[in-house]
This record gives sequence, C-alpha cells and structure tokens, in this order.
Amino acid sequence: MDQSQRNATITYKPLLRSSAYIDGKWVDSTNGKSIDVTDPFTGGRISSIPLLEAAQVQAAVDAAARAFPAWARTPARERGKILRKLLDLIILHRDDFARLITLENGKPLKEAYGEVDYGAGFVEVYAEEGARSLGEIIPAPVPGRKLFAEKEPVGVSVAITPWNFPLAMLTRKFAPALAAGCTMIAKPASQTPLAALALAQLAEEAGVPPGVFSVVTGSAGMIGDIFTSSPIVRKLSFTGSTEIGIKLMAACAPTVKRLSMELGGNAPMLIFDDADLGTAVDAAMIAKFRNCGQSCIAANRIYVQKGIYDTFVNTFQQRVAAMKVGDGLEMDTDIGPLIDEAAVAKVTEHLDEAVAGGGKLLAGGRGEGRMQPPTLVSHVAQDALLTREETFGPLAGLIAFDSYDDAIRLANNTPFGLASYVCSTSYETINRASRDIESGMVGVNTGLISTPYAPFGGVKLSGIGKEGSKHGLDEYLNLKYVCQSGI
Ligand code: ADP
Repeated sequence: MDQSQRNATITYKPLLRSSAYIDGKWVDSTNGKSIDVTDPFTGGRISSIPLLEAAQVQAAVDAAARAFPAWARTPARERGKILRKLLDLIILHRDDFARLITLENGKPLKEAYGEVDYGAGFVEVYAEEGARSLGEIIPAPVPGRKLFAEKEPVGVSVAITPWNFPLAMLTRKFAPALAAGCTMIAKPASQTPLAALALAQLAEEAGVPPGVFSVVTGSAGMIGDIFTSSPIVRKLSFTGSTEIGIKLMAACAPTVKRLSMELGGNAPMLIFDDADLGTAVDAAMIAKFRNCGQSCIAANRIYVQKGIYDTFVNTFQQRVAAMKVGDGLEMDTDIGPLIDEAAVAKVTEHLDEAVAGGGKLLAGGRGEGRMQPPTLVSHVAQDALLTREETFGPLAGLIAFDSYDDAIRLANNTPFGLASYVCSTSYETINRASRDIESGMVGVNTGLISTPYAPFGGVKLSGIGKEGSKHGLDEYLNLKYVCQSGI
C-alpha cells in the first residue's frame, strides 16, 4: 500500500483532521504554518497540524474559562449523557480509530484496537462516575451547626499527552475532567496529534459545547508556557517524561495549580523459582513487548531467580524469536516500527552496553531505521544501563538473582516507582513482595494491569495523582467545606 492508500483506510473522513479545534471551531494557524504528521512505518505524510500562534492558544484558554460556569452547572447526569453518546460514537468508529492510531503511532493494529477499547473505557467509566461525586455531612462539634463538605469542579484544566497511547492517555484525563464539570484544553504530542483531533470531532458530534473541550497543536514549549503561567488554568495533567514533568511542576508553582503527573517508570519484573513457567513467560511477553516496549509500565528489568533461570530463558527465547515484525496495519504483526530513529538508537545503546558487560544475545539484535526486532539478552549485569534507564523499546534483558531480599533490593534500587511485576505461586512471596516493592502498582502473575476501573499512578519520581477509577475523578474536584451556624 502506498501512503495515500494507507491514509484512505480511514473511511469516515471527518476523523482525519489537519486543523486544531478551539472554542468549537476548526482553525488553522494565523501565520499559515503547519507541521507534517508522518507514518512511522513508511515515513510518508498522513496529515499536517497547525503550528498555532500564542494568541490562538490563549484564545483556547479564554474560551475554556467562558464555557466553564455553564458546564459546571450542567447536572452531572446530563454531562454523563453526552459522554455516553461520545462512547457510542467511538465504538461506532472503532475500526477507523484503530487504524488512525496505527497510522500515526505505528503500533500493531490488534494493539490499536486494544487501545481504542481501553480509551473508550475511560469515557464509559466517567459517564457514570461523574454523578457519584458524593460529599460528606460531618457531625457538628457544637450545637446549632451543620457542617458539610461538597465536591466542586476545579475549573479550567489542561492536558499534555504523549505519543505512545495517543487516544487512551487523553481520554483518561478528558473524561474525568468533563464528567467533573471542568473544561479542558489538550495538547497532544506532535508526533501523534490525530487521535486527539478525532476525539474532538466526535466530542463535537456528541454535543460537547464549544469551549468545553479544545485541542491545540504546535510548539510544546510555547503552549506549555501559556498553560503553566495562566492564572485561569487551575489544573494541569501531564503524562510524559520525568524531566519535562519536573519543569512543568516548577512552572505551575507560582499559580499553585492542581497537578496530576504520570511520569517515567523503570518497572522491575521479579520471577521467583516457584513461578508457574507458562504464566511467567506470558507475563513477561506482554509486560515487555506490548506497544513495542514503548510503555511507561513496560517491564524494563526482568530479574529471574537462579533455580528457574535456564528454563525460563529457553521458553522465553522461543516466544521472542517467533514474533512477527512489520507493518502495524497487518493484523498478524506483533512488533511495528518504533516512533522515531532516536528510539531505535536508545535500544541499540542499551543492547550494546548489555552485551559488552557480559550479556548473551539470544534473539533479535541491532535495529535499523525505525524498525527494531524484539531482542533478548540473558546474563545481563545487575548494574547494566538497561536496569537504570527506561529502554522504551523491545529489548528484554534478563538478570539473575539469588534470594527474596536480593530481588527486593534490586527492584527498589531506582528513583522511579510506577509499576512492578511479581511472578510466584507462593502466597507468602506474593504478599510480601506486594508490600515491599516501592511502586504505585503491582502486577502479580500478569503483565497486563491497566484498566479504567483501577487507580493508575506512581510514587517517587514516577509522579503524583491517579488516573482511572473514582480516584481519577477526584483529581478534577475540589472539596469545599461549609460550616452553617444558627440552625
Ligand atoms: P516523551 O519521551 O514521551 O516524548 P516528553 O515529556 O518529551 O515525553 O513529551 C510528553 C509531552 O510533553 C508531549 O506532548 C510533548 O510535546 C510535551 N512537551 C515536551 N516538552 C514540553 C515543554 N517544555 N512544555 C510543555 N510540554 C512539553
């Protein structure tokens, strides 16, 4: 397929946009400038997006402020109805959405379908959850008083999202924000802005009023500056690198904004001697290779206890070698292109360093262009680069450990704390490890933990706040305490 045929796989044309969406209108840059959005598999052009000027981004913030009072007063069940309509539209256009995600991100189509369902799940959860933001009545400490606390929307919110899950990383912010009664302006990653614009298209069709949701595109630095310095913006939700997250937190300090930060991870997977082999291999496959390893909860470091090490390596090696690398648009592809050539260079650096340090290359190897084959290195040193930095690619390094205490010490030897994984059949080991590991999330005998129904988020340098579940809604609500006297 040439690029125009690839682009033509999006059958509902309004989903493939080349404008930003501000205050209910599709707009181009006032200076006429745009940047191309390219297909990571071919390098061809899918669309372009406007390089907006500062005044246009400011206009989106102003529109969100104007739209806020009426949206906040709209009954939560009415807001929920609009979100449910949006959910129906996403499901109606599920095929197009999946192909759009594969086109701009490169991920295999079967995973893009998974992302559409996961992303739609947040809309479904918060269409319901918004009406359950219950307050509290507090028994009065003195006679004649009534004390209560009620939840109210924080106000204008902004979302800055990454390229690895272009739809889901946005809906997990957008859906609770709108359900809570906040308005939101989103800035998607420049590599993958099209899913966010497609979401805006369907939000408009579902009846989200002008200004309640806008999508701005262009220079991340300029947009970030406007968002963070604006006194109108009361909440920033960011998913991306720890480095940028820290800068954004600092920039938000003078205006004391509410913050949700989903930052980098460095997830350990601990496979104990008593693990079920099939379960452990399945868990490692999904935790390592989902989204070609480009996930902040990807198992970055796989620690295997000495008694099961050789058996695990053999089975895992066969599974890794059997993966199909290629065009994400083909349904049987397991590994598509990485997002860009810098991503492949990072994997190569980690691979070369692991092998130079004594690791044995058992599958895959060096990548080329944007294609990186799934790669397995065993006998990796405990201090290898891939244990310290996020690889963000399909490179699995296996590191041996002796005892339970060793495993926990290695797992916690990181400033990050997003996800971790434990494989064992011992009730005691599972419970101790779930307690002892310093991370916001623990997967036990599974590598697939994400769901809109559970609180996703990290500790330490991996961030603050939760997304998903009722806790994700609270990120967009302030608790107001009212004390009535003379009753
Ligand atoms: P990743 O490694 O996932 O690309 P980044 O933190 O670089 O992580 O990017 C995540 C999001 O943050 C993207 O939407 C990107 O455009 C945006 N971003 C990058 N730099 C800045 C900045 N200085 N201010 C605001 N947003 C930024």
